[in-house]
Amino acid sequence: MKELVVIGAGIAGLTAGIYARQSGFDVTIYESHTIPGGACTSWRRKGYLFEGGMHWLTGSSPKTTFNKLWREVGALDDHVNIYNRDPFLAFEYNAQTAYLYRDIDKLRQHFLEISPDDEKEIINLCRDIKKFTKIAMPILDIKNVRVKKKTSFSWSAFFSTLPALFRMSFYVNQSSKEFSKRFKSPLLQLLLENIVGSDNKAIGMIFTIATVISGDGGYPEGGSLAMANRMAKYFETLGGTIQYGKSVSKVLVQNGAACGVVINGEQIQADAVIVTQDTLVAIDTLFDAPICEPWAQKMRESTKPTLNTFISVGVEADLSDVPENLEFITDEPLLCGGIPVSIISINNYAGYKGYAPEGCTAMTSVILGDSYDFWKACKENGTYEAEKQKLAEAFTRILAKKYPQIAGKIAVWDVATPLTYERYLHSYKGSWMSIMEKESKMKSYPSKPESINNLYFAGQRIMSPGGLPAAAETGRRAVQYLCRDTNTVFQGNI
Ligand SMILES: Cc1cc2nc3c(=O)[nH]c(=O)nc-3n(C[C@H](O)[C@H](O)[C@H](O)COP(=O)(O)OP(=O)(O)OC[C@H]3O[C@@H](n4cnc5c(N)ncnc54)[C@H](O)[C@@H]3O)c2cc1C
Repeated sequence: MKELVVIGAGIAGLTAGIYARQSGFDVTIYESHTIPGGACTSWRRKGYLFEGGMHWLTGSSPKTTFNKLWREVGALDDHVNIYNRDPFLAFEYNAQTAYLYRDIDKLRQHFLEISPDDEKEIINLCRDIKKFTKIAMPILDIKNVRVKKKTSFSWSAFFSTLPALFRMSFYVNQSSKEFSKRFKSPLLQLLLENIVGSDNKAIGMIFTIATVISGDGGYPEGGSLAMANRMAKYFETLGGTIQYGKSVSKVLVQNGAACGVVINGEQIQADAVIVTQDTLVAIDTLFDAPICEPWAQKMRESTKPTLNTFISVGVEADLSDVPENLEFITDEPLLCGGIPVSIISINNYAGYKGYAPEGCTAMTSVILGDSYDFWKACKENGTYEAEKQKLAEAFTRILAKKYPQIAGKIAVWDVATPLTYERYLHSYKGSWMSIMEKESKMKSYPSKPESINNLYFAGQRIMSPGGLPAAAETGRRAVQYLCRDTNTVFQGNI
């Protein structure tokens, strides 16, 4: 049996580990943290559960092909309930609220009520959303791999995607912000602009709306860490090993082939290595010399990382009357990592069982933006903890102004900065996805370098913009390359 080492027990590493183990490899995953999941994580503080990763999962619906993959790797099963929050998102502006409903007719009607003047754009948008519901993330086999079961390709499904494919360039060539300007209503503009972030291509926005309209994009009960734990348990049930608290410092390469890893100075031999640490960091740090192939150079030059500061609060009040996912404009901008933020986004877990003590509520906020240098400077000049506290206090002040029942009821707060993510993930600036700006092309990077044999890459950075499906798909694909190189039959059932 061939020995495989996987670096990282995030979703890419666990997926790779499971498929490799199923395909007969002897697999050890080395994970620097003490738990599995990587960016797909959650944590408890004083009885509150803070969801720190997944907010919605592509492939949560049993109707999708990707659902089969999530089930195959143990991420989902019949016992895991899926919350399909509806409305998916709410945006409040000038005492009016726009909702992103999951039903297309209800959505159209609601948008028309908000802004009859935007009728033409609303009808066009809803027509396009319907077209994009036909496009699903494909799961395909690589060329010339021997597989237990071939992934199926349906011509009829392909033809049904054509109307959306013809509209693709329209959304690819503009940002969400530019697209939103087609609407006269400032409220609709704000809602549409902020679904995936204003700098991201509008294609991300339309895909996201189409995903939720088609009944996908739910939140698995228990959240991120529970999902990662299920996958880790399944991997171990298959006979795989996860070594926690083991940070790989180097990949050993001999005669042009990967042959193991170094951990705490100790050399561990292997026949092949799959690296799921952020590829952008791995290519410069895990080898005696940086990997200098053209794709690696392109990745270094063109990656725009997605990073955030994450605020969570435990509130001793029942906030069931507050929307689950709300964005609003604050008149007192929140200074987060030196950047003034005027749109606040909150996730409210009042309706989720077990996320807070009885009668209390866990709330979180993802504040996107590159504040890495600010926090780094704070760390160096000794103001890091004080700045985190200042941020948490300013955030709770804004919340309490909007929802007075919160005032004086904060039982616990927690702030994770890009430095926190960097420390746990060893990713570039603590990032966990990539921004798809309108000028940038969809990027997919190779799963294996040309200059080193028996070495494979997987993870969010390999397929931009990243996210959980990209992590899983690239993990699966890396194992298909491994199987092809070792003339092994890939054991997957999709
Ligand atoms: C706030 C937030 C919200 C998000 N929301 C969503 C969402 O709603 N939907 C969605 O699809 N995605 C979402 N994502 C993104 C998604 O979580 C990530 O893209 C995905 O989890 C990345 O998985 P990965 O396995 O590629 O990488 P990672 O999760 O970064 O995993 C890499 C693992 O490798 C380990 N590691 C790194 N270097 C080493 C080393 N040298 N030795 C040993 N171990 C190492 C790390 O500790 C980590 O566990 C969100 C992320 C965040 C942070």
